[in-house]
Amino acid sequence: MNRNITVVGLGYVGLVTGICLADLGFRVFLADLDANKVELVRRGVAPIYEPGVNEKLVKHRSTGSLEATTNTIEAVAKSSVSFITVGTPNVNGEVDLSGVKGAAEDIGAGIAEKNDYHVVVVKSTVIPGTTEELVIPTIEAASGKVEGKDFGVCVNPEFLREGNAIRDFMNPDRIVIGYRDERACKVVEELFSGIKSILVKTDLRTAEMIKYANNAFLAMKISFINEVANICELFGVDVKQVAYAIGLDFRINPEFLRAGCGFGGSCLPKDLRALISVARNKNYNPVLLEAALTVNNRQPLRVVELAESVLGELRGRRIAVLGLAFKPETDDMREAPSIKIIHALLERGAKVVVHDPKAMEKAKGIFGETVVYAETSLNALRGADCCIIVTEWKEYAELPLEEAKKLMRIPLLVDGRRIIDPAKAAESGFIYRGIGWGKGMQ
Ligand code: NAD
Repeated sequence: MNRNITVVGLGYVGLVTGICLADLGFRVFLADLDANKVELVRRGVAPIYEPGVNEKLVKHRSTGSLEATTNTIEAVAKSSVSFITVGTPNVNGEVDLSGVKGAAEDIGAGIAEKNDYHVVVVKSTVIPGTTEELVIPTIEAASGKVEGKDFGVCVNPEFLREGNAIRDFMNPDRIVIGYRDERACKVVEELFSGIKSILVKTDLRTAEMIKYANNAFLAMKISFINEVANICELFGVDVKQVAYAIGLDFRINPEFLRAGCGFGGSCLPKDLRALISVARNKNYNPVLLEAALTVNNRQPLRVVELAESVLGELRGRRIAVLGLAFKPETDDMREAPSIKIIHALLERGAKVVVHDPKAMEKAKGIFGETVVYAETSLNALRGADCCIIVTEWKEYAELPLEEAKKLMRIPLLVDGRRIIDPAKAAESGFIYRGIGWGKGMQ
């Protein structure tokens, strides 16, 4: 088998997968239908912001180990392994598998041109049964070849976190390989032999379910601590201390226990909704998962309520929103809490000024002319009646508070991510409110 690999779907996961496979010594073709993305990558420009991606893209492009193309069929025909990393968005609560089907058709057409064994790895998050019921039959139909003989298919869910993607890909907590063809599994094991991790081998649909269960658990953990934060406020208790103490219990662990304005991004909300929807389709009512979603749907509005608790009506108020991306170190705004918060502020008649170190361009596509875009965080605060921190970017945690206070009309700081020390904010003359802070709320 040659060392050529095609990665189909050049998004956050595909780009990082391709770059890391090139790091592991493979020659990688990055294939996408989007000619603009392909052109950018060809010029050595990453179409997304993700730490380390641009540098590695330039490096591997110059050595010829990474190439971008819109011709998936041709790339697959030259490769021994193809990864499916296309998006699986949620449309009206259901998973849209059209990208996966399209990728499987092109991969099948590429396999039709080959004489040797080929392995297809499904990395996109797909509902249990998709690989057996959609991917394999589609490839067989498009290639005229037989799974288990001419080609094999594995499921290898991805657990990387945006903002930390390269590190997570190269140092995963575990690598899950779902398979039914032993030979295909061996190829994938060999592919990842350069990465030290625990290997979990399962059947195809178990691997698909592991990804959904993983994300549902993380989503529940965040909604749990947010619900506790909201209750803490009623008792004048600081959720940060509560979270710290319960996080020390090894059965709980401190990760994903930070109260805030809720989870967003391309995975947790989408995957939680998908799991709820497929469970309901099978006549099961997933009450726990639904509750996690309900908490998350209303959590962004908590910061608006905190602003109102001090300012009263927000009509005519100038509100600075710091942070638009769904989390730091990314420009991804898919389902970001900032969107709900800004829409709620605009509905209440507030004038909104926004800032984000990386997501301003994406924000312009969402909010258009309805908000003012500030070039720096301090510029956003000029003349503001309130500053709401929505994303925990480091530069907001390090905001020069004395200077910031002087710029604002009313020095009200609503800390949606609990990244500012309330005592320091008070020393600088701020009125401080924070999710789950408790003090000043009774
Ligand atoms: P994305 O939306 O950023 O990118 C998907 C890409 O696939 C797009 O560039 C699109 O043009 C391309 N595409 C769609 N159909 C295609 C086709 N038929 N042929 C070629 N290209 C096609 O998606 P993403 O965020 O990278 O996520 C990809 C998958 O990985 C999803 O299933 C997602 O749930 C899962 N996942 C994402 C993350 C994450 O942090 N973003 C983490 C783990 C898993």
